[in-house]
Formats: sequence, C-alpha cells, structure tokens
Amino acid sequence: MDRSRISILGSTGSIGVNTLDVVAQLGGRDAFDIVAITGNSNVALLAEQARAFGARLAVTADEKQYAALKDALSGTGIEVAAGRAALVEAGQRPSDWVMAAIVGTAGLAPTVAAAERGADIALANKECLVSAGELFVNAVSDGGGKLIPVDSEHSAIFQSLEDDQRHAVERIVLTASGGPFRTFSREQMAGVTADVARAHPNWSMGLKISIGSASMFNKALEMIEAKHLFGVRPDQIEVIVHPQSVIHSMVGYTDGSVLAQLGCPDMRTAIGYALTYPDRPKLDVERLDFAKLARLDFEAPDEVRFPALRLAHTAMDRGGVQGAVMNAAEEIAFHAFCDKRIGFLQMADIAEQVMDEMVGYGTAITMDDVFAADTEARRRAAEAIAQKEMAA
Ligand code: NDP
Ligand code: MG
Repeated sequence: MDRSRISILGSTGSIGVNTLDVVAQLGGRDAFDIVAITGNSNVALLAEQARAFGARLAVTADEKQYAALKDALSGTGIEVAAGRAALVEAGQRPSDWVMAAIVGTAGLAPTVAAAERGADIALANKECLVSAGELFVNAVSDGGGKLIPVDSEHSAIFQSLEDDQRHAVERIVLTASGGPFRTFSREQMAGVTADVARAHPNWSMGLKISIGSASMFNKALEMIEAKHLFGVRPDQIEVIVHPQSVIHSMVGYTDGSVLAQLGCPDMRTAIGYALTYPDRPKLDVERLDFAKLARLDFEAPDEVRFPALRLAHTAMDRGGVQGAVMNAAEEIAFHAFCDKRIGFLQMADIAEQVMDEMVGYGTAITMDDVFAADTEARRRAAEAIAQKEMAA
C-alpha cells in the first residue's frame, strides 16, 4: 500500500510531534513526500518542521501568525497559508494518508475534506467521531479511504479485532488509567487546578486530553468513538480502570476469549501502525519488561466520582446531535476551568446541563446540522458558565 504522500493536521502538537518522529524513523524526507503540515500558535516549531521535512505547504490556523510564518520560511520555496479555509485546503491537497491530530472540533472540517477526497485517515482527533458519528464514518468510506484509529485504546481494539471474526465480537473493553485523581474523593477533586490536573501518571499528552483523562471525560469521548468505529452497541462497551496503562484495550469474543494489545505507554506504536497498516513498522520505542512490571491491576470505574462516564451513556442513548453537544459544551467548560472561571467538577455539570437543555435539538442528517448543534452548545455552555460565575 503506497502511503508515501502524507499530510499532518496538527503537526505541532503532542501527536503531531510523535508522528514526525515516526516518519523520521521510517526514512524521513527520503521516504515521504510531506504534502502539508498545520499548526496554530506555535509557528516557530511549524516552520522548523517544514524545513526539516521539506514540507510543500505549511498552514497556521491563526491568521495573525501568517506574517511570522511567512518570515520564518522565506527563501525556502515552502508555500505558506493561514486561517480556517487554508486548513481545509491542507486537507484537500492530494495525499495518500492524513494524520488528523488537531485538537477539538477545529479538526473536523479539514479532516472531512481529506476524507471526502479519499485519503486514508489516521484518526487521533476523536472529536470528529464524537460530534459527527456516522456522518464522519460515511465520509471516509464514501471517499474510498480507510479509517485507522490512532487513539491507543482504539488502535488496540483495531489490532485485536480480526476482520473475519467481527460477527463473534461480544464486547469491547476500554482500559482507562484512572488519571491523577483515580483515588481522590469528590471533595478533593473540587479544589484542584489545571496545573495539578494535567499531570498524567503514564502518558505525556496535550493539555485538553490530559485534563480529560483526569475527569475521565476523555474516556467518555472514547466510548462514543468506539461505538462509531467498531459498530457496536453501547451495552457492548465496558470501561475498566487499569492504572499501569500496559493493556491498551481488549476485545471479548463469543467463545469467552479476550484478545488484547499491550505495550509501553508510547503513542508512536499506534501512530506507526496507522501509517504502515496492515504491516508493522520497525520502531525504536521502549519494549515491555514483564519481570520489572510484575503486576497488572484492574478496578471498576466509578460513575459517581467521574460522571462523564454516565454522560457518555446518556449521549449514546439519546443519539442525534447529543455527541456533538456534549463535546462542544465540554470544550468550552474545559477552557473555563483552565482560566480558573469554574471548578474541576463543574466541567461535567456544564456538559450535562447543556445536553439536557438540548434534548431533541435537531437531527444529524448533514455536517451542517452537526456544526449548528456545536455552535448552539458552545453558546449555551458559555451562558451557563457566566451564570455560575455570577452565583459564586
Ligand atoms: P495538542 O494540544 O498537543 O496539539 C493540538 C494541535 O492542534 C497542535 O498542532 C495545535 O497547534 C493545533 N491546534 C490547536 N488549536 C487549533 C485550532 N483552533 N485550529 C487548528 N489547529 C489547532 O493535542 P494532542 O496532540 O494531545 O491531541 C490532538 C488530538 O489527538 C486530540 O483530539 C486528542 O484527543 C487526540 N489524542 C491525543 C493523544 C495524545 O497522546 N496526545 C492520545 C489519543 C488521542 P499549536 O500547538 O501550534 O497551537
Ligand atoms: Mg486514548
């Protein structure tokens, strides 16, 4: 399978940097034609990456950064662009494989653009599936490309799911590290700041997903992601807390067998698999040392301390645009938490409030319906946050 022409949406982020590391390990600019890379605020890194990998196009989402990016790449012959339309254009440029690693709903439009023209999509941006669900899956299949998960849990399931055994799948078991507050009471969580919440015990990741791991909102998004990726019912999706993050997730079959994928917590394994699938690349990553590891622990998740898990079920039961609503409201609440406008526990409160307010709000027949629900949920979340501030 020829995947030599590639684009990386969100190359300056945690997943983006790891993707370029994998690309470098597999031959770098001698083996790959880097069609487009994109970033937002970090134009210095974007320019450095574009030079190092000989990218043809570098795009910053932030129009105010255009001049700085242009300056940094002057004389290189690398094309430079800025703004949301330019991001979509980056997705549209012909390439075989696109890493979707922009954070949040901002990643949806450029990823859909890449899917519609038939690129294989390596999906890190779970928000695409949470918000647009079937519409997104259909955009990829109608385009003729493959949808290959990069989220470590979903990569593990993808690797443990034999195509000709799909009929025999009984359950999907998503593992969760439990994050930094695994043993905290609600009272203890009430007072934490973003700096404390972002310190993940096992994985080094971007800010949004780190906070989402602490609140288990990330796991809630992943439950919905799994439903759409693997076409399973919500009652077939289980979450188990596994603090060591060695088992990345599992598939249970009708004969009682459970297949799992294990590895050190390093996203490069899932990224490399998504790039070379169905082959496996040779990667310089740490190997598991079972004797040192000694034990693997498991705990049932607690939906009272981590209500996000309950909200995922609510969103799946209600269907329609509730995934988009939950995702958008939480994104706004996440920013408000980082800005110290609301407390840690209020993130889930805001998401739940907006989801309840928007029960029966429209359908998800077209992408525009999804974008409309997203916009409305953001507006309502901002309003709810302002009300909480006034009450405080
Ligand atoms: P980061 O915050 O590290 O990176 C996000 C990327 O998106 C950066 O390139 C950033 O640019 C860019 N970006 C930010 N805002 C915008 C915007 N408004 N428009 C366009 N681009 C923007 O995130 P991660 O790499 O951690 O996560 C990326 C995605 O992958 C998320 O959806 C996350 O859930 C998912 N994921 C991440 C994992 C991880 O290990 N990190 C694991 C599994 C999934 P800049 O930095 O230049 O501002
Ligand atoms: Mg994950």
